[in-house]
Amino acid sequence: MSRWEPLLAVQEHDTRVDQLSHRAEHLPERARLGEVGERTAALDRRLATVQERRGELARSQQRLEDEVASLTARADQAEKQLYSGAVSNPRELQALQDDVASIRRRIGQLEDDELEILELSEPVDAELAELGAERERLVAEQAQVESELAEAEADITTELATVRAEREKAAEAVDAALWSEYDTLRSQLGGVAIARLVGTTCQGCHLALPAVEVDRIRKLALDEVVHCEECGRLLVRD
Ligand SMILES: [Zn+2]
Repeated sequence: MSRWEPLLAVQEHDTRVDQLSHRAEHLPERARLGEVGERTAALDRRLATVQERRGELARSQQRLEDEVASLTARADQAEKQLYSGAVSNPRELQALQDDVASIRRRIGQLEDDELEILELSEPVDAELAELGAERERLVAEQAQVESELAEAEADITTELATVRAEREKAAEAVDAALWSEYDTLRSQLGGVAIARLVGTTCQGCHLALPAVEVDRIRKLALDEVVHCEECGRLLVRD
C-alpha cells in the first residue's frame, strides 16, 4: 500500500462528511416548512380581516338588540299606563296610543335591520368556517413536515457519526507529514485535496494533463509528492 492510499480514504470520508453536512443544511423538508409557514401567515391575515368584519356585524346586531329591548320596555310601559285607567283625558290617551304605535313601528324597522345583518353574517360565517378548516389542515401539514424533517436530520446525524468514526480509523494510517498540506489544499480547493491520476486525467479537476507532464510524473517514485499542474491537488499515481 502506497503512502497515499490512507489519505485517499480519509479524503473519501471527508467528502462524504461535506456532502452530508450540505444535505443537512438544504433538506427539502426545511423549505417545505417555510412554505407552510408562509401559507399559514397569509391565512391568518385573511382570518383577522374576516374576524374583524364578523365582529363589526356582531356589534351592530348587539346595538340593534339593545335598542329593541329598550324600546319594547318603553312600549310595554306606555301600554300599561294606557290600560291602567290612570289616564282618562282623551287627548292624553290618544297621545299615548300614538306613542305606542310609533315605538312598535320603530321596533319593526329595527328587527328588519337585524334580519339584514343576519343575512350579511351568513357568508362571513361560512368563510370563517372554511378558513378555520384550512388552518387545521395547515397545522396538521406543519406537524407532518416537522416530523419528516426530524427524521431526515436524525438519519443524517447517524450516518455522519458512522462516517466520522471510519474517518478517524483511516486517519491513523496516514503519514503525519502529509496532514498540513492536505488540510491547506482542502480549505483552498473546495474540500478536495487529493485525487487519482487516471490515464492522463486528474480526478480532482477532471482536466487532462499534457502527455509530457504525465510522462514526467510516471517516472517519479510513487511516494514522491506530485501536484496536478492544473488544479494544484496532490496527485496519486498507480
Ligand atoms: Zn487537477
